[in-house]
Amino acid sequence: MKVPNQQNIYCPKCDKHTEHKLKLFKAGKARALSIGTRSNIRKHKKGYGGKAKHTATVKKQNKKPAYIAECMVCSRKVYLIIPKRMKKTELVAVSR
Ligand SMILES: [Zn+2]
Repeated sequence: MKVPNQQNIYCPKCDKHTEHKLKLFKAGKARALSIGTRSNIRKHKKGYGGKAKHTATVKKQNKKPAYIAECMVCSRKVYLIIPKRMKKTELVAVSR
């Protein structure tokens, strides 16, 4: 799917719709001492193995595309996902 790299979406700081620039979202590195990381280690990597409950056996084939939208007026960043799984997406420049 082609996604326009500039979109007119709602900005919570300006409290109105403004032009936003879209960038692909990249997840940061997980902190080693956060509660989530420690509980995940406790659940999966401690003891004599066994099988933890609720672990997915089949991986999902596609991901929902996630973007960071930056307001061009106040430069506030908004996390934006398209709520649909898709194989391929590309940001396309749109002339306005
Ligand atoms: Zn704004």
